[in-house]
Amino acid sequence: MRRGKLFILSGPSGVGKGTLRERALKDVEGLIYSISCTTRSPRPGERDGIEYRFVSEADFKRRVQEGLFLEHARVHDAYYGTLRADVERELDAGNDVLLEIDVQGAKQVRSRLPDAISIFVAPPSLEELERRLRNRQTESDDELRHRLANAALEMEQKGAYDRILVNDDLDDASAELRRLILSYRE
Ligand code: 5GP
Repeated sequence: MRRGKLFILSGPSGVGKGTLRERALKDVEGLIYSISCTTRSPRPGERDGIEYRFVSEADFKRRVQEGLFLEHARVHDAYYGTLRADVERELDAGNDVLLEIDVQGAKQVRSRLPDAISIFVAPPSLEELERRLRNRQTESDDELRHRLANAALEMEQKGAYDRILVNDDLDDASAELRRLILSYRE
């Protein structure tokens, strides 16, 4: 049986990768999302085991010690990690798996699983990214500045990815992502 392919989606906060991910999961049959563990608190509407597995810092550190993570990183003052067993189980079952992780995590996965296909979602420009972040009004001014500074750093990593997907128009970008994922099934 064909082993599934692993796709990594990264990109700065506010670039629309969450929406692209949701669309890809809806549009591509047999594509599974790997639900990360995080120590951050749930935002309104987020459910444990759906958007994330919300865990305590002690629990997270125990899992790190036990080597359960395929990758893990600290992002915006919280820990995030991908459970290795979840990913391997789906790949073995022939399903393609999508990870939405930050640039540090992507680097770890690329070195551990060189066959993974990494995709960087970039904004048309940093000015446009700032406009989108301000419009969504989910962050305080401090948080916004922090995310924008982080975005500039993340953008420097985009050359390490297999593909760069510019999210100018959401429909175009999601069609391109779908085509890209399906192209690995031929
Ligand atoms: P948020 O807290 O806004 O959902 O996510 C913050 C950042 O953490 C995003 O860049 C997201 O891609 C990243 N992230 C989410 N899950 C993981 C994970 O399992 N590992 C890593 N390395 N980053 C993650």
